[in-house]
Amino acid sequence: THFGFKTVREEDKERLVKGVFSSVASSYDVMNDIMSVGVHRLWKDHLIKKLDCGMRPGSEKPLEFLDVAGGTGDIAYGLLDHARDKFHDTQSKITIADINADMLLEGQKRLLSTPYAQSGRVSFLEQNGEVLDKIEDNSKDVYTIAFGIRNFTNIQAGLNAAYRVLKPGGIFACLEFSHVDNPALDYLYQAYSFSVLPLMGQLVANDRESYQYLVESIQRFPPQEDFAGMIRKAGFYVPGKGYENLTFGVAAIHLGVKM
Ligand code: SAM
Repeated sequence: THFGFKTVREEDKERLVKGVFSSVASSYDVMNDIMSVGVHRLWKDHLIKKLDCGMRPGSEKPLEFLDVAGGTGDIAYGLLDHARDKFHDTQSKITIADINADMLLEGQKRLLSTPYAQSGRVSFLEQNGEVLDKIEDNSKDVYTIAFGIRNFTNIQAGLNAAYRVLKPGGIFACLEFSHVDNPALDYLYQAYSFSVLPLMGQLVANDRESYQYLVESIQRFPPQEDFAGMIRKAGFYVPGKGYENLTFGVAAIHLGVKM
């Protein structure tokens, strides 16, 4: 990297990831806001509108959503809101899967302040997204993952699991920090990432290490084209070039369709 940051050994990664998210679970919103200067909310809205999920008029079949690394439920409740507001869909269901029980607890707490609290439409699953063995093959219509997959030890295993659990015709959608496509902007972004962010993490959450890990995990995530290739390798049909850059590639949305 430009700033010579050391990498974390793979075998320490899963343990570290669990620790990072346990320690940030309660200050999670603050962290996300700091990381993206608040823009993650716009990116998430954009993803939800782009997917445009919900029971189409005349359909009698509720959809089955799966939000992996769903943590606090941002994407999950957003998907249900969109389905209701645009398609009057009050039946589709979602499973929020996350490896970290503390993050799921945040999601459960937050469920109470949504209209879905008593609906039985939201379920929580403590599970590694690289495995998903508690989820049946060919059972989901839409798989979303936002700011989660870069934490996987084996990203390809995660993509293969996504492919397995989706129904034929099902959609895979990933929102993740990615790589800035303009060299000058990238230089500024790196400087921000490696100096400003850990410092802000220390000041705001008194947790420099977790923030530093997050910056490093972004750095090591495969570039857009390579990640699209991995999605293809899992078996998905990848439409067009396979991704949309958001904010110059600071984040990107990748899509795949199970044929
Ligand atoms: N999707 C939420 C959002 O966008 O606000 C949460 C994103 S948070 C940055 C990353 C989440 O990924 C954490 O909740 C963490 O516990 C989860 N996670 C990390 N590794 C995972 C894995 N292997 N399987 C499932 N979840 C994982």
